[in-house]
Amino acid sequence: MPQLATRMGRAKPSAIMVIAEKAKRLKAEGRDIVSFSIGVPNFLPGEHVYAAAREALAKDSGQYGSNRGSDALVDAFLGHIEALGLTGYKRENVSTGVGAKQILYNLAEALLDEGDEIAFPAPYWTSYLDIAEIVGAKINILPCPPEQHYKLTPAQLDEALARKPRVFLFNNPSNPTGMVYTRDEIVALADVIATYPDTWIITDDIYNTMVFDGVGYHNFVHVRPELKDRVIFVDSLSKTYGMPGWRVGFIAAPESVAKAVTTLNSNHITSLPEVITAAAVAALSGPQDVPAAKCAEFAVKRDRVYNALVSIPGVVCPRPQGAFYAFPDISVAFGKKHNGVAITSDVDFCAALLETKGVACVPGSAFGEPRALRISYSCPDEALDKGMARIVEFFAELT
Ligand code: PMP
Repeated sequence: MPQLATRMGRAKPSAIMVIAEKAKRLKAEGRDIVSFSIGVPNFLPGEHVYAAAREALAKDSGQYGSNRGSDALVDAFLGHIEALGLTGYKRENVSTGVGAKQILYNLAEALLDEGDEIAFPAPYWTSYLDIAEIVGAKINILPCPPEQHYKLTPAQLDEALARKPRVFLFNNPSNPTGMVYTRDEIVALADVIATYPDTWIITDDIYNTMVFDGVGYHNFVHVRPELKDRVIFVDSLSKTYGMPGWRVGFIAAPESVAKAVTTLNSNHITSLPEVITAAAVAALSGPQDVPAAKCAEFAVKRDRVYNALVSIPGVVCPRPQGAFYAFPDISVAFGKKHNGVAITSDVDFCAALLETKGVACVPGSAFGEPRALRISYSCPDEALDKGMARIVEFFAELT
């Protein structure tokens, strides 16, 4: 029997997808399941996006496109980030990919040789670890427990960057915690970054339009424009525009990095399809009322979830201020029993919750924090309230 490549020994299926698949299976078997597992925005893009796609379909050339992304798409992205306050970028600074995930994979290939160090805070989005492992990077995880609101401190960053990692990967607003860094916090971290010139900084900020409570979205480049020669800003249509299945991601980066990603594209995806490109241009440059309305809606859902969670004795939940995730510390349940079944870990907890209450959440260990679980709360209000009531009930039944 021929062998798989060694790197496949380090590759594993996404933990989130495993839970989502199980919830789907139970649903198909007729169980009443509330899924808080997968991070889908649960809304559709505006009609103008579909109209642009239909129009493009009617005259699709069926040809290969640009490895970087079409000029129209790159320009639309440049206009979009300018509105975010990220100014002075040119076409040469941009590249595109099949979602932010493929962009991040490309970046790992482009920036990390085997054995090079990458540092990132935990809780982290699961794919950071998975991708870094596949490319054989040395991984330095920076633990940010609930006691520090899951946020990285300047002192932790200083210690991590003193090791001169090749890449520091930062995510704001955060999946899985929903935390958002304030401007002052970004300034303090940027001050540290400025003193370590040998590290690339990737900011995965794909939830940048989903920020509540007036905290605002802040990037290191906003507060220290000179960091533009090392900061790689990652964005995506998936969450902002309700387009996860359309698979469009972007970077604004130093020219050399955008070029490297474009070269990798030329060796695998070649280009985004024309119809997708037209829809993406329409999303980025058309009316922005859908993302704005959804942000307001998610802020209200956040309140519903947060209020339910903090009503449970012993559960600790730093208040999310962005994206559509809550990440409560549920370790108060460890050592107890539910329906006679011992709960010793986040995995036991999520399994029992799914089995007995039909609520699917992702165990925190998938994100590097085994005391917690992730609730993705983008579902309709009725399902949200039903699911939260069941979680409250589950805790009340612990013995
Ligand atoms: N980064 C973060 C933090 C995410 O949550 C996700 C999607 N869950 C991605 C990147 C990937 O997004 P895309 O759909 O654009 O691949």
